[in-house]
Amino acid sequence: MKIAVSACLLGENCKYNGGNNYSEKVMDFIKGHEVLSICPEVLGGLPTPRESAEIVDGVVRHKDGSSVDKEFREGAEIALKMVMENHIDLVILQSRSPSCGVNSVYDGTFSGKIIPGQGVFAELLRKNNIKVMDAADF
Ligand code: SF4
Repeated sequence: MKIAVSACLLGENCKYNGGNNYSEKVMDFIKGHEVLSICPEVLGGLPTPRESAEIVDGVVRHKDGSSVDKEFREGAEIALKMVMENHIDLVILQSRSPSCGVNSVYDGTFSGKIIPGQGVFAELLRKNNIKVMDAADF
């Protein structure tokens, strides 16, 4: 099986704060499969580290209200193209991210509150009928 994985889950330091979300459980699951590492925010041209962002009424914004929606959505489109071109069967994504969250995201108030929802990349993948899984489900 060909699996694309949020790069931060594989240990790449592409998270907004310069760290990663390395997951032993995800690493165990992908053993023996062909793996494509992917970070839509980096693909969208955003630097690492970068300011945190949340989805506020459907628009990805920084805490000061400035929009990074364009960069997030462009990155998601580039990442989708990579997934399509590589004939990926499954995409495993980091929880709660405004790009990668599959089941839930932060609520847009920058207070740490989680609500049901999905990130812009996860949403785009689903719209294109690509199977997604949240890392928290392992
Ligand atoms: S955009 Fe996705 S892959 Fe990149 S750091 Fe955020 S959660 Fe990880």
